Amino acid sequence: MPLKPVKSNDLCNSLLLNTADAVIVSDSAGNITYVNPAFVKLIGAQEDEIIGHRLNSFILADWLDSSTVEEESKSGAESNGTPRPATILTKSGTEFVMPAAHFIAASGSDNMTIVYVVQANSLQQAQTEFVSTVSHELRTPLTSIKGFADTILRAGDRLEVAQQRRYVGIIRDQADRLTRLVEDLLAVSRLESKKLQLTVRALDLREAIERVEQNLSDKAKNHTLVVQVPAGLTPVWADADRLEQILTNLVDNAIKYSPQGTTVTVSATVAPADEKHSGPEMIEFAVKDQGVGIPEEHLPQVFSKFGRLDNPLVRQTEGTGLGLYITRSLVLALGGQIHVTSVPGCTTFTVRLPAATFEQQVARGRGD
Ligand code: ADP
Repeated sequence: MPLKPVKSNDLCNSLLLNTADAVIVSDSAGNITYVNPAFVKLIGAQEDEIIGHRLNSFILADWLDSSTVEEESKSGAESNGTPRPATILTKSGTEFVMPAAHFIAASGSDNMTIVYVVQANSLQQAQTEFVSTVSHELRTPLTSIKGFADTILRAGDRLEVAQQRRYVGIIRDQADRLTRLVEDLLAVSRLESKKLQLTVRALDLREAIERVEQNLSDKAKNHTLVVQVPAGLTPVWADADRLEQILTNLVDNAIKYSPQGTTVTVSATVAPADEKHSGPEMIEFAVKDQGVGIPEEHLPQVFSKFGRLDNPLVRQTEGTGLGLYITRSLVLALGGQIHVTSVPGCTTFTVRLPAATFEQQVARGRGD
């Protein structure tokens, strides 16, 4: 019996439902109008938590903004349809950089239907790359520890005491570096496996900032630290240890990536109401430095795992490249937002966290 011809609609449906590639469709205003099951699975949310929401709540890339897409389509630019890196934001706050391609499926006088395809098996590739980067990061301090230990063993009696002390000092510093790396990796693993346990309560931001300032006072001895928090600012609704970790990472970076003698300012205020999102009142704090800055094209990269940028100050400073990834994940887990602006001589990281409601503050007053 001859086979019936397949209807192209049925074929499309079946492909979209069964392909491992994640497919998202948006209008030109960046509102999501369709997602296939692979995308729903990738994000870890329900379909109705995605459809109707903004594209940039789930997928971020400089090439994603609709005016760029429109311009590219008019100029027939080659990048249309070519996979380029995009950051996928999952519901749990973790993120993956994966190749994604887009093309315009239909275009009317004032609207377009844009299809985005996030390539499957790139998640596995991202994980493999992560393992290989981690191995490399672990090997560097290990090589140095082994090298200096071998030298001391081989030539110990011929080395001067001062030289021996210097080598042992290097071994200890490299062991410290390994410890930091392993701690950061454990934090990443806890965040990604959703094992993060939060104890949220009403917290006074000034107290938290002053504690962090105290802890970092040794590192900050060549900088001026300024704290600007208005008296009586509404407390934030957050977990004390995580809030301290977020502040520590941001202030530590501000000190590391700015020259001695400059000022780091930590300020806090009630965030201006966001017209686009109605939600709880938010408190905003900003960490501002007078340092080298981050080139605009590298801004999204700083929140990625191992997103260290290559510049002289970064090469001179210790770091794992995981700090801002962890910071961002913690801010998201606390229901907040983080963003960065930077020009040479002024970098500002701004964090918004939910304000504690009156009832939550009263509970705190009772010694919660
Ligand atoms: P690291 O351990 O390298 O500090 P982070 O994740 O904290 O890792 O930061 C990632 C990268 O972002 C840094 O390596 C640096 O290149 C850049 N960066 C972070 N904060 C600043 C800042 N305040 N000024 C300039 N560059 C910064």
